[in-house]
Order: sequence, then C-alpha cells, then structure tokens
Amino acid sequence: MRGTIMNYPLTLPTILEHAGRLHGAQEIVSRMPDKSVHRYRFSEFYNRTKKLADGLIKAGLKSGDRVGTLCWNHYAHLEAYFGVPCSGGVLHTLNLRLHADELAYIAKHAGDRFLIVDDDLLPILEGFRDKVDFERIFVVRYNGDPVPADMEDYEDLLDGATSEFTYPEIDEFDACGMCYTSGTTGKPKGVAYSHRGVVLHTLAVSAPDAFGLSMRDCILPIVPMFHANAWGMPTTAVMAGAKTVFAGPHTDHESVLELLESEQVSMTSGVPTVWLPVVDAMKREADRWNLNPALKFVIGGSAAPEAMIRDFDTLGHQVIHAWGMTEMTPVGTTGIPKPSFDSMSRTEQFATLAKQGIPLPFVDIRVVGDDGPAPWDGETMGELQVKGPWIADSYYEPDDPIFSWTDDGWFRTGDVVTVDPEGYVKITDRTKDLIKSGGEWISSVDVENALMGHPDIKEAAVIAMPHERWVERPLACIVLKEGAVLSVESVREFLADKFAKWWLPDAVEFIEEIPRTSTGKFQKMALRERFKDYASE
Ligand code: ADP
Repeated sequence: MRGTIMNYPLTLPTILEHAGRLHGAQEIVSRMPDKSVHRYRFSEFYNRTKKLADGLIKAGLKSGDRVGTLCWNHYAHLEAYFGVPCSGGVLHTLNLRLHADELAYIAKHAGDRFLIVDDDLLPILEGFRDKVDFERIFVVRYNGDPVPADMEDYEDLLDGATSEFTYPEIDEFDACGMCYTSGTTGKPKGVAYSHRGVVLHTLAVSAPDAFGLSMRDCILPIVPMFHANAWGMPTTAVMAGAKTVFAGPHTDHESVLELLESEQVSMTSGVPTVWLPVVDAMKREADRWNLNPALKFVIGGSAAPEAMIRDFDTLGHQVIHAWGMTEMTPVGTTGIPKPSFDSMSRTEQFATLAKQGIPLPFVDIRVVGDDGPAPWDGETMGELQVKGPWIADSYYEPDDPIFSWTDDGWFRTGDVVTVDPEGYVKITDRTKDLIKSGGEWISSVDVENALMGHPDIKEAAVIAMPHERWVERPLACIVLKEGAVLSVESVREFLADKFAKWWLPDAVEFIEEIPRTSTGKFQKMALRERFKDYASE
C-alpha cells in the first residue's frame, strides 16, 4: 500500500517563503569593510531575494545555469544563497583565498555564466578574468567603490526586477549549489548540491541534538560562505528565523569578539585556527567582553583541541564539535553529550567532547580497516565511509579518475577513525597525514592536540619524516607563545606520560608559523614539503 501523503518537493523556495511570511521582523546584520554596520529585516531580505531571482531570469539565466559568487559573508551573499537557487540557477561559491589559476580552472570547469562579486574583491577577479567567460558581472558595492564600465551594479539588477516573481518549477533533485574541494592530488573536484539534500541537511543540523538553532538565536557564522555552504548555517538561520550576523572581512579576534558582544550572538561557528586567538584573549581579559552567557561555539573543519574545549568550558561556553566534508553538504557528525555523559568523570567527558561526535540521523557510517569492517570499540582504526541523502554520489564531470566511492556505493572520506560503543567518531587522521612507523599507525592529530594543551605552545602540527629503519617517524612543528622558550627534551617529557614511547616525536622544530590552507586549516602538506629532506639534514 502506498502512503496517502503528498509528494511535495523539498526545495529552497519553500524555506524562503516560510521565512518571508513568518519572520519578517527578524534582523540581518552585516559588518561593512569600514566596520560600520548594515542592518535590515527578513522582510527586506525576502523582497530583495525574490527580485534577485527575477532579475537573473530577466538577464537570461536558464534553469541549471551556474552563477558564481566571489563575496565575503554579508547580506548580499545571503540573497544569492537563496535568490540563485530560487531562479532555478546553481549558486557556485568561489573561494576568494585560492590562487588565480585555481579560480580560473574552477569557474571554467563549472561553466559559470554570471558572476556576483564584491567591489573590494575586483583585484582578485582581475587576476583570472581573461581566462574565464563570465557573460555578465554584477558588482556588490560593499565598499562603495564605483562599478567598472564593463560590469553592472548589483543594485541595478534588483531595481529592474520585481518581487512579485513566481518561482520556476524545480525538481528537488536539481542542483541548487556547487562547491569545489581542494583535494591534495589532481584537480579540484566539484560537488553539486541538490535542493533536496540542502533542505534535508538544513532540517537535520537544526535539530536540538545537532546545532539546535531556534528563532530566538542570533548566529554569527565565521566560517566563510564560500566554503561548503558555510556548514549549513545560512539556510538553517533563514529557516529558523534566527537573527543573522555577518562579519565580512573582519575575522581577527578583536573584531569577532566585538561583534559577538555588540549583537549578543548565541551561536557562532568556525575552524579552530579562528578560535585559538579568541579563547586566548578571553582568558587574558575575561572581564573585557560582555558576551551572551548562552553563546555556543560550533567548531569544525579540523580537530578542536581538547585544551580549547576545556578553556571555553571554564569561560562558561559550550563547544559543539562538528565534523563534515564539502562532499557532505557538509555536516556528518556533531558532538552533543548523550545521557551517558552525565555519569562520566570530567576527564572522560572532555575526551568525549574532543571526539567529532555522533552521526546525524540519515548519515549512515561504517569503518573499514585493513581486515574489513571494524568494530565500534573505540580502538580499532579504519577508514570512515558514509552514505546519506546529502552526501555526494559523484563529482561534477571530474577530469581525473576518481576512487572515492566503493563498489557498493559508500563514499570514502579518507579520514581514519575509531568509533566507540556509544557511536562517537574520533578522527585519528586523514589517510594522507597518518604516520606509519614500523608498520604501526601513529595519530598525528592526537599528538598535536596534546601539544596544544601545553601552556607555552600556541600551535602544533605533527608530520611524518622519512626514516630509514621505521619508514616514517613523527616530527613536531611547534609555534611557541610570545616570549616562551622550550627545549626539545621538555616537549618530549611533556608528552611522555600521554603516549606510548614510540609515538613521541623524534624531532621538534620551533617555527614562526604554521602555513594555512585557503579555508584556514593547518596546511601539513606545505610542512611536509619544507621538511622533506629532514632525516638527511
Ligand atoms: P579540504 O579538503 O579542503 O579541507 P573539506 O573542508 O571538505 O575540504 O575538509 C574535510 C576534511 O576536514 C575531513 O575529511 C576531515 O579530514 C577534516 N575535518 C573536518 N572537520 C573535522 C573535525 N571536526 N575534526 C577533525 N578533522 C575534521
């Protein structure tokens, strides 16, 4: 027997309509380049977004056409997040930190027809414009700069359009967005998100045991909107009707703290490298900022060090540790304490919070070790493989051969994990970062996290260096806090009671800074390159 329930498509216009009708009075706040604040309400966002959709169709956009964005986090980018998909188009967010050649490859590979770009990012566009074929370029006058003669003002696009716009028919499996993942080998690979996947992901991450976002929240996603749907924060905030705050280019710790305070933000999100200086500043000057006591920090993209989670806890703030991937829309697990947490010791509790969390509903996981499926015993390591309704089943027209899916349809994350009996996933490494010493794996992430708990250590990355006898041995690259002095021996002593002897780094290098990827993660590849001849040095 078939159910007697409607076949109602899961598409983004439904979320926009819901927000426009029910949450019109809610605010969207954007910090401008000069740090002044742009404020408007959901009602205006709703009207402008529909105008954008209408304007794009009037400009000739056809269903499935890609519209690139090269923008900071702000109201106009949020308009594009909904306006492009609601026109039947595909929003392709371009990562403004990439090299011009990569941007050219990505925009060309995706076949972007139109581009929406911030005026202060035009110099980046100039770096690759002659290699791509944008038909029309709409400039957001974010900084108030004049629009170049061969481009158009984003506001004119909206002025020439109507909000009385009727949505085109959209199949829920149609693409609504695209994002390229950097990948360490081969060309960047494109993921095409579907309306259905984004809607289901939005519902799942807003649940109480995920981000738990409500219309009474105020969210500040520091995670860039050009990266993996900003972890679902923008669509989640619009669906919930939560006050939404954008930091624009101002993501240094002082600016972030100012904004957290002035808007009384209750949820913020970003990679650990954003929060390291924030938590340090909060510790140094605990009374300086009058933050919302309910403020929660969603931390992901790379492992949140346990020391950071403890520090936030001492300061009275909860950390939600989340794991995901561009290929997963992107959230897969969230670190919410299960009821069993209450009977744990503090040490066990923090060890659990430092894990990446339990899978969201509909995210099916399995761990595959050298000998097949690995048990959920919290010890056996294997590759994490996933399935689910917001997980990619292929890349968009890949140029290189792809080995990321198993024959039985699981996506291979390339992350090496353990899963404990309660279902908490712990990322021990990415396959390419694991250190294989004498045939046994050493988790670089575990050693890094321990190092970052040292009071004199600001940042640490542990990489493999070639070794004649053991094949690979760990090398710790450490950035000390200002004025701190440490010896190699004291670093090893600090780790000695935390790990087996053979896990301890053979060598320690004190360096000025750890290079970052375009999304703010530690770029271990660059360190491996720098120290590739280390053993023979
Ligand atoms: P990139 O490869 O450019 O970093 P993604 O943002 O898609 O692209 O990165 C996904 C990867 O980031 C995951 O496979 C995992 O290795 C890492 N990652 C994400 N969140 C976490 C986390 N909370 N802890 C540890 N690693 C994480």
